[in-house]
Amino acid sequence: MENFRIFDESDLEEWVTNNPEGLIVNSNPSGFSSKYIVLHRSSCESFSKTGRSQITYSKYCFENAHILYLELQTLGIDLKGVRMGCTTCHVNRFIPVQDKKDLDLKVNQLLKTGLQSKPKGNDKPQESNSTITAYLRDPQVVAWVKNRAKGSCELCMKNAPFLNKDGFPYLEVHHVKPLSEGGKDVVKNCVALCPNCHREAHYSQESSTIAQRLARIGAKLDKFA
Ligand SMILES: [Zn+2]
Ligand SMILES: [Zn+2]
Ligand SMILES: [Zn+2]
Repeated sequence: MENFRIFDESDLEEWVTNNPEGLIVNSNPSGFSSKYIVLHRSSCESFSKTGRSQITYSKYCFENAHILYLELQTLGIDLKGVRMGCTTCHVNRFIPVQDKKDLDLKVNQLLKTGLQSKPKGNDKPQESNSTITAYLRDPQVVAWVKNRAKGSCELCMKNAPFLNKDGFPYLEVHHVKPLSEGGKDVVKNCVALCPNCHREAHYSQESSTIAQRLARIGAKLDKFA
């Protein structure tokens, strides 16, 4: 099966009608190349506008974002580096991502603008093997903090919501100052939280206030344990 189709302007309109979730890439006529890529959704009004440019770019048309993603991967083009998504149709929001932060960002943008129709999604989500920055964490630190919590959340003080498969209270160990921001993987920088509080610490509007509280809690608890 061909991964994408190339058009001169003539049949494009029909393709666009038949592929509402399609993506169109304007790129070099000589070949799909990372030197010039502008992505559009097929519903975008402005992919045909060449502006003042004299060059007619070829249209590389993909049925959906997943297929495009795979093709770009094959070509060794990292979409994270592709900053040339059209800002009229906000195509970037529709491209699958692996990074949780990127995903949340796009989801929130979509929630603000609204979805036009139920998305098809992807029957076979691609395993992504590009590198995410992950930090090695010391299991002893996690275990120590969980022991210190004695089965209840160190923020809301409620009991852990359930026992895990090994029979231990289910709590999540959270870094008060995130490792990604230079936080240390040490007991003093960690608190054990129930899942609700943990999510709240990361995603709520109050997260900076919560972070301050958690810093105080973490420091205080560390003195006594
Ligand atoms: Zn566009
Ligand atoms: Zn809690
Ligand atoms: Zn956390």
